[in-house]
Amino acid sequence: MNIFYLSAECYPAAKVGGLADVVGSLPKYLCRQGVKTSVVIPKYRTDWIQDQPFETVFSGEAPLGRDSFSFEVQKKQDDDLGFPFYVIDIPDRFDRPGIYGDLQSGAAYEDDAERFFSFQIAVLEWIRSLAEKPDIFHCHDHHTALIPFMMTQCHRFKSLQKLPTIVTVHNAEYQGRYSHDKQKFLPDFNETKAGLLDWQGRLNCLATGLKCCWKISTVSPSYMKELRQQSNGLERLFVHEKQKSRGILNGIDESIWNPETDAYLSHHYSVQTLEEGKHANKKELCNKFSFDAGRPVISFIGRFVEQKGADLLPDLFSMLIDKGTDANFIILGTGNPELHKRFRRMSAEYIGFFDASLNYNEKLAHQIYAGSDFMIMPSRFEPCGLNQLYAMRYGTIPIVRAVGGLKDTVVDIAKPNGSGFTFRDFTLEAAGQAVERGLELYQYKTKFYALCQKIMKLDYSWNASAQKYIEMYQQINSKTHG
Ligand code: ADP
Repeated sequence: MNIFYLSAECYPAAKVGGLADVVGSLPKYLCRQGVKTSVVIPKYRTDWIQDQPFETVFSGEAPLGRDSFSFEVQKKQDDDLGFPFYVIDIPDRFDRPGIYGDLQSGAAYEDDAERFFSFQIAVLEWIRSLAEKPDIFHCHDHHTALIPFMMTQCHRFKSLQKLPTIVTVHNAEYQGRYSHDKQKFLPDFNETKAGLLDWQGRLNCLATGLKCCWKISTVSPSYMKELRQQSNGLERLFVHEKQKSRGILNGIDESIWNPETDAYLSHHYSVQTLEEGKHANKKELCNKFSFDAGRPVISFIGRFVEQKGADLLPDLFSMLIDKGTDANFIILGTGNPELHKRFRRMSAEYIGFFDASLNYNEKLAHQIYAGSDFMIMPSRFEPCGLNQLYAMRYGTIPIVRAVGGLKDTVVDIAKPNGSGFTFRDFTLEAAGQAVERGLELYQYKTKFYALCQKIMKLDYSWNASAQKYIEMYQQINSKTHG
């Protein structure tokens, strides 16, 4: 089988969040299991992309409304990512360091529609020229969700109309919603089918993809169910498309997220050497923030957006510190400017107990997973969540709100097979109680380290989930060839 992954992100080329981690790792596991999976993303001007040797495999020109644009498809010369990796070079649109917006100001790029429409058009233009077509187009999130529509309705791509498509929803909060006048950027299509582009009066890329694709998947079984009740306006559509939908849990890339080999850590450790290993990493982390390493460390890593519930943390951490809780609190993240201000104020107010690194820092993220005792995730919703999986792999106990993928991956310690602390309500009280239960366990070192060892041994690698994707591909393939 020959699968093409189309995405806006792929680690290590371009990463904003979990989408990159998934697209940069699942194909590796699929290729290893004999399913050739190529990844295609736009050619951004990131440091990593600039350092790689690429060769041009296709040059073309395609329409974008009344204009046209030139593009090149370039392939990474070696396959050392573990899968064939392609970038589409559209200089006017993607030759910028940011993925979705300006890195300095954080403002979203205004030509979002033109950027991702042209990317998708270029992909199809290239693929229609290939003698050997992919067996399946696997589109990830709204940036590539117009592909199933264009393949079936645009006259230009008629030769691709029978090829199967999958849309994976990594986060339905972001849908690519535009006014209908952006339709003018699409190549000529069957006008009687214009309704497919519409959802609640707007052009909605994700909704269009969900309607037109063969199969829908999302990144955890619980999130799949939740989407039918709450998905930023798409609830009815998820109910309607239920028969072709399924949830498959994300996994972690063991070649990157492994405390025995992690290139970002100065102290490696395994289940056997957990206690010394965590101790050494914690000491280093605490030195960095001028914390007392004798106290437990509770950390948060993530984007400051509604979804992640980071707005609960200032009051939660202040409440705990004001109460005299003997713990250190670390934040790594960026987003809502108001929260930046609050965290900055707290760093000044609670010197030696609280600190925030308000940036994107891959190395520090790894050091925090390794050097913390607890990782807190008070998410309002969470499609899968990778932080809790990385935390567990590094023997760091998750404290999570039981929603979406968090509910599917973290079992409260009060139950058999417990792996962390969970809470239900999005309130200070509920989150506070969960943290306090964690800190209570920390007092009993034998029990505490037994739990750290147990969660380190859990298998959240891609092996099991990659198999589920393969089943889905095989089902689709048997329909086309059966
Ligand atoms: P989402 O994709 O919704 O942001 P996930 O939990 O799926 O959330 O994935 C988040 C990924 O982004 C993880 O790899 C996490 O370590 C990383 N990450 C988030 N914020 C930062 C940051 N400020 N610095 C470094 N890594 C970060």
